[in-house]
Amino acid sequence: MNISILVFGSNNFLATLPDQIRDATTFSVEVITNINQAVSRIQMMPPDVILIQASMDSSMELCCWLKDQTKLSWIYCILFEDRFQQLSQKRKYGSQRELEMTAAALKQGADAYIWQLSEEKTDHTLAELTANHRLILAQLTVGLRKAQKYRDLIRTNDLLSAIALADSLTELNNRRALEWDLPRQIKKARVQGNPLSLIILDVDYFKKVNDTYGHLVGDRLLQLLCTRLRHNLRYQDTAFRYGGEEFVVLLSNTTSKEALIVANRLNRIVSEQPFAINNKLAIHITISLGTACLATEDDEQGKSLLHRADQCLLQAKAAGRNRVIGCEYSSYVPHLKAVSS
Ligand code: GH3
Ligand code: MG
Ligand code: MG
Repeated sequence: MNISILVFGSNNFLATLPDQIRDATTFSVEVITNINQAVSRIQMMPPDVILIQASMDSSMELCCWLKDQTKLSWIYCILFEDRFQQLSQKRKYGSQRELEMTAAALKQGADAYIWQLSEEKTDHTLAELTANHRLILAQLTVGLRKAQKYRDLIRTNDLLSAIALADSLTELNNRRALEWDLPRQIKKARVQGNPLSLIILDVDYFKKVNDTYGHLVGDRLLQLLCTRLRHNLRYQDTAFRYGGEEFVVLLSNTTSKEALIVANRLNRIVSEQPFAINNKLAIHITISLGTACLATEDDEQGKSLLHRADQCLLQAKAAGRNRVIGCEYSSYVPHLKAVSS
């Protein structure tokens, strides 16, 4: 991986760092001296590691800001102490002043705090320089380990999300994905004042397919059906496998009238052409569909919307199957009174 390092400091400061840091094959290094530029760069393209020169204006502000960015908490921040005038006259490793400054720096958000070699002393021994560079590289390694772990975590997270939200047989979004997406689509539709519709569809007499040809053929048929449905949806429509041979299609920015048109098209493309399971076997099936459009009184989770579409689907089944019934165009009564026993 190409590690990105953001240096908040001067070019002179950069020159004091180990040569390895400027190795372009391992690291991409960017130097920024202005806090506003640094903040927008971090927000747009978060680096793996930030090196901050303490004597720069706003260096501590940048440290504190970074600490407050919970979404960027994986960025490793190394603060380089070069405010030599603030140090005790005679710098002595482990002096009280030095310890206090270290504690303050770590508290302000730095993950590591490194004392630079004093500018006043120009004749640093090779041993001193080597020790300083080794310490910097060691801290950088810690930061890179953190970045690598974070990237692995993100990758695993993405994979788990994909697994958790996808149906393994049909590769459609699953019911969990619908439960996650539907409230968001409802909220978006309401904020933007756009219509939102939904279709529930169920394969007619699917049990017969399994009973006649076996479950493996039934599985294949479901896969072919989903491919056909997917290819006949608009880019803004999302299909979900709701249960066994039951599917939901969310139609964003779609009125109830338009939803009926989409549902009728789906009905037609399924019934018009049999599904070729193999060279010898093609199976003809039909589907029943119910549609509903988001209403003001619908709950924000989408339960009542789903229920309305489901009632229409039941009606379509009861009316003989292979048809579409839309909520607004059917005899469905949204608020049926409970029948008292
Ligand atoms: P209806 O027209 O009333 O919907 O009749 P149906 O036979 O489709 O409905 P029913 O609910 O009686 O049967 C649904 C069948 O779908 C039974 C179940 O075994 C089958 N099924 C559900 N999920 C899968 C699956 O993943 N693979 C296969 N092969 N069959 C499935
Ligand atoms: Mg069925
Ligand atoms: Mg069913």
